[in-house]
Amino acid sequence: MSGAHATVIVVLGASALPVARRIQQALPQAQVLGLEGRADAADATYRAFGETLRGLYRAGTGIIALCAAGIVIRALASVLDEKGSEPPVLAVAEDGSAVVPLLGGLGGVNRLARRIAAALEVAAAITTSGELRFGTCLLDPPEGYVLADLERGKHFVSDVLAGGSVRIEGDAPWLASAGLPQAVDAALAIRVSPWLADAPHELLIHPRSVAVAVEADDGDVASQVAGALAQAGLARGALACLLAPMELMGSLALAEAAQALGADLRFTKAATASEAMLAQLPHAKPLQEAGLTIAVNASPIEACELGQRRGRLAVVGLGPGDRAFMVPAVQAELARAEDILGYETYVNMAGPFLPEQVLHCTDNREELQRARHALALAASGRRVVVVSSGDPGVFAMASAVLEALDGASDLAWHALELVMLPGVSASLATAALAGAPLGHDFCVISLSDNLKPWSVIEHRLDLAGKADLAMAFYNPISKSRPWQLGQALDVVRRHRGPETPVVLGRDVARPGQRLTVVNLGALTPDMVDMRTMVLVGSSTTRVIPRGDGTPWVYTPRWYPMAP
Ligand code: SAH
Repeated sequence: MSGAHATVIVVLGASALPVARRIQQALPQAQVLGLEGRADAADATYRAFGETLRGLYRAGTGIIALCAAGIVIRALASVLDEKGSEPPVLAVAEDGSAVVPLLGGLGGVNRLARRIAAALEVAAAITTSGELRFGTCLLDPPEGYVLADLERGKHFVSDVLAGGSVRIEGDAPWLASAGLPQAVDAALAIRVSPWLADAPHELLIHPRSVAVAVEADDGDVASQVAGALAQAGLARGALACLLAPMELMGSLALAEAAQALGADLRFTKAATASEAMLAQLPHAKPLQEAGLTIAVNASPIEACELGQRRGRLAVVGLGPGDRAFMVPAVQAELARAEDILGYETYVNMAGPFLPEQVLHCTDNREELQRARHALALAASGRRVVVVSSGDPGVFAMASAVLEALDGASDLAWHALELVMLPGVSASLATAALAGAPLGHDFCVISLSDNLKPWSVIEHRLDLAGKADLAMAFYNPISKSRPWQLGQALDVVRRHRGPETPVVLGRDVARPGQRLTVVNLGALTPDMVDMRTMVLVGSSTTRVIPRGDGTPWVYTPRWYPMAP
C-alpha cells in the first residue's frame, strides 16, 4: 500500500495560478484549489480558507499553499496538537521565489519541497539539521522501506549529529550519496533488515521485502500472519504483501487482515498461493511457519510483482451537470479511476482526466455491453468507473451492471469490489429549481417504451393519477417516440384538472438551463424534448409568486383529512 494521500495546491487569488500550474506540472496528481470568486479558474474552488486547510490537514492531505507562511501557520494552529499522521505542509511564495516546508518532516515534506523548488528553479528552504548535514532524512526512508522505531531513530540522529560516525549494515541504496560520516568499526550502525533486532545503537530500517501466502480466510488471519512472522523472527513492518487464491478475492476478512497488517493484498489464479508466490519471487528465501509460507526477498517487493489486486468497479452518478452538484465521493472515485466508461456526453461531463486515465466512450444504447466490458476490466484488477448522469440507479447503469452480473459464470466478476455511488437525479434537481413540487408523495415514471410495453406505462399513469401522486416523467419524448407524451397527458387529464401546475426543466444545471411552469391545460408535447424533465403536480400542488415575480411551485406536506 502506498499510503500516500493526495496533495492539493491552494491558491488565494488568480495571480498565484501561473505558479500553481507550474507546480502541478511537476506533481500532476495534485489538484489546484482556488478561492471562490478570486481564483475560479482553478480545478475546484473552496469558500473558507482556514476551514478548508484544517479539513485537508485532518484528512492527511498534503498542502502546498501559495501564500505567506504565517497565514498557513495561523490557519492550522488549532489542529496541530491532534495526533495522527502529519501530512506535508508547505508555503510557496506566490511568485514562485521561495519554497518553505512547514510541517510533515516524516511525511516527506523536504523531499516534496525539493521537487517543487526544482520545478521553480529555486532552492528549498530546508531547516532540518539532520537533513542539511546528510542530504536525506534518515527517519524518512524512501518507498519500500520503513523505520522500525521513531523515538529510537530520533536519538540515533542526535548521536550522529553530535559527531558519531556510522556503519551501514545491509543494503541501503538511497544512502550511497548521503554525506554520512562512515567508518567500518563505528559504534553506531544503520541496519537495513527485515529481521527483528534489538540493538540500542542501531537505526533499524525494514525493507518491505516479505510476502506471505494465505490459502484460506477462516480464523483471525491477521493474528495468524503476525504470529508466523514473529516466530520466524521477522518484523511486521517488513511485510509487503499477502498473496491469496483468486477464490478469496471477495473475502472481507482477508481485506481487513491486510489492512490491519499494513500489507498489500494480491490474488493469483494458481492452484495454491504459496506455489505462485515462490514462482514469482524465485530468489526469495522460503520459510514455513505456523502453517503459512513466508518468502523473504533480497530487496523490497513491489506489489505488482505478485498476482493481481482485487479490482474495483464503481457505478457513479454525476448529478445533472454542474460539478457543484456532484457528490464528493464521486469526485474522489473519478480522480483515482484507471478506466472510465460511459456515453460520450457523460464521460466528457466527468472530466477533466489525466493522460494516463483510459476513456471508453460508447453509444448510449449499448448499456449491457458496456456493463460487461466494465466488469471484465475490473475483474482483471483495474479501478473502473462507469458514469451515468443524475443518479446511476434511476433509469441508468447501476441496473445494467447488476443485470450483467446476474447469473454470470466468471467467479472474478462476483468477487470484485462493486459499489454504486449516488447522484442528484434530474427530478430532484428540477424540483429544487422550481421550489418543492415533489414535497409530498410522488412517483417516478420513464415514458420510454423501448424496454417496456406502452400498455404498462399507461396503466401506471392511470393508477398514479387515481392515487393523486405528483409525477416525475423521465425520457418524456424523442424523435423515435413522438406520440407517447401526448397520450400520457391524456391519461393524466382523466384525473387532474387543467389548472394543475406542471414544471418543465430543460438542461437543468447545464449551460442554457431553462425552467418553465405551465398549467396542465396549456401543456403541449412540443414544449418538451428529450433533455427535459416533466413534473406534474398533484391536486394539492400550488403556485405562489417569488420576490422577482417568477413562480414558486410547491406541494404541501399535509393532505386533506377525510371528514
Ligand atoms: N439517471 C438519470 C436519468 C437518465 S434518463 C438521472 O437520475 O437523472 C434520461 C432523462 O432524464 C432525460 O430524457 C431527461 O428527461 C432527464 N434528464 C437527465 N438530465 C437532465 C437535466 N440535466 N435536465 C433535465 N432533464 C434531465
